Amino acid sequence: MTKFSDLALDPRVLQAVLEAGYETPTPIQAQAIPHALAGRDVLGIAQTGTGKTASFVLPMITLLGQGRAKARMPRSLVLCPTRELAAQVAENFETYAKYSKLTKALLIGGVSFGEQDKLIDRGVDVLIATPGRLLDHHERGKLLLTGVQIMVVDEADRMLDMGFIPDIERIFSLTPFTRQTFFYSATMAPEIERITNTFLSNAVKIEVARQATSSETIEQALIQITPTRKDRSFADKRAVLRALIRAEGEACTNAIIFCNRKMDVDVVSKSLKQHGFNASPIHGDLDQSVRTRTLDGFRDGTVHLLVASDVAARGLDIPAVSHVFNFDVPSHPEDYVHRIGRTGRAGRKGKAFTIATPYDDKYLAAIEHLVKQPIPRGSLPEGFVLADAGEAPAPREGGRDGKSSSSRSRSSSSRDRGPARERDERRPAASEAAAPVVEAEAAPQPVREERAPQAPREERRSEPRRSEPRRDEPRRDEPRRDEPRRDYRREDRGERVLGMGDHVPDFILRSFKIADAPQDESHDAPEAEEPADSSES
Ligand code: AMP
Repeated sequence: MTKFSDLALDPRVLQAVLEAGYETPTPIQAQAIPHALAGRDVLGIAQTGTGKTASFVLPMITLLGQGRAKARMPRSLVLCPTRELAAQVAENFETYAKYSKLTKALLIGGVSFGEQDKLIDRGVDVLIATPGRLLDHHERGKLLLTGVQIMVVDEADRMLDMGFIPDIERIFSLTPFTRQTFFYSATMAPEIERITNTFLSNAVKIEVARQATSSETIEQALIQITPTRKDRSFADKRAVLRALIRAEGEACTNAIIFCNRKMDVDVVSKSLKQHGFNASPIHGDLDQSVRTRTLDGFRDGTVHLLVASDVAARGLDIPAVSHVFNFDVPSHPEDYVHRIGRTGRAGRKGKAFTIATPYDDKYLAAIEHLVKQPIPRGSLPEGFVLADAGEAPAPREGGRDGKSSSSRSRSSSSRDRGPARERDERRPAASEAAAPVVEAEAAPQPVREERAPQAPREERRSEPRRSEPRRDEPRRDEPRRDEPRRDYRREDRGERVLGMGDHVPDFILRSFKIADAPQDESHDAPEAEEPADSSES
């Protein structure tokens, strides 16, 4: 078996790798590193969890060992689709280059240009960036890419999802054609294939096994439910989710809960919180500082349940996740592989539950076709019964002042759950887990309404567009009428796309009731603006 010491890495890099606790390279490392050190372009078809980051970081540090950086002319460039991934790659450089004198800079949105300019002015060996922010620096004349000897494109499939491909092409064209290129993607969509054919030269193609087909450390279970009513599917799934988490009890040390849509991430997270769970949402529309805080909290254990969208969570390296819950069956089968791959990492055991309704059959079939095996069927926790508990509307994102509405405080259901809400249910009591539970949440509301609460405008932006539209989503060229088209490239540069935001002009809220007119609640404009009752959560 190949060892790192067989790979002709710089001794200083080898020392850092051994100190990080690794002796044996992963398959992608063992295959890519010798070609990378020989100066070849590498096309890696691999996803997070395979050790792909070190497969380009280690040879890069070795290759960049000779030479010095010139002002404003980085010697290498790593492009990542998200700020979190860029930060993760930077951490890898930190770990493995600790004995090598390499300078690096991280160019990501949400960080002031001034600090970044200073670093670039001094000259950097490694520049790690998101595409939009990098182009901004270039367009401001602060950065020259003509000195780039090595360029890495990480998670190209996600770049495609996020609409970054034109930026990537432009960045390629700004670098010298003599550069060495490392290109990583979990899948090879036709558009990705086109880019690699255009910009890679005589690349070695290395494909490593998908985690879901190879990992034996993940115990999977498919929980199929038939909603009590068609319009209650969302509420029933939330009840099932809670029951599953409770049934797992202490074994669930932490979990990522995946939803297909950002708006559902917010609602599911809020719902869990209302039921006393320690949950926080993460998706692309949240402020960078909030995302960072949430992730740090999840890593250090202060956040127990991370409710996430695919784009926000994919690629994140959080080694110890005990459980993954697919609140929705992903409509892109490869997302299933990415999602469950968040658990069962680094030799640990993990569990992945997927909640499905009969409407998901087509997507389940696609997943099972991809992973070439059926997902083992699981059952609902013992004693759990789905039941309809009468009328109660869906939760709404908090009122303008963040307070509960008056109708919310009247809710019998929320009152019933009062004590639980005070408790931290991070470790539900054994009796609670074992007791028969009749979970009920009724929301006789149109499904569309329920799934799209009137969240602040920022939170209603759509997930990044994919090459194919997601289920229930508009085609790429047809933005939803209620959702403004999102410009990821501008946001990546740290620019905010301004709209009315939370500001509601006073006259819109003014009541038109005449003082002595008969009282008719239904015409009271402010009342109509109140958030809906939150008892159904
Ligand atoms: P990546 O696929 O780059 O996101 O890496 C996933 C995880 O694998 C990270 O936590 C790395 O620290 C870890 N890792 C990287 N190289 C190795 C190795 N050779 N053996 C074991 N784990 C590794």
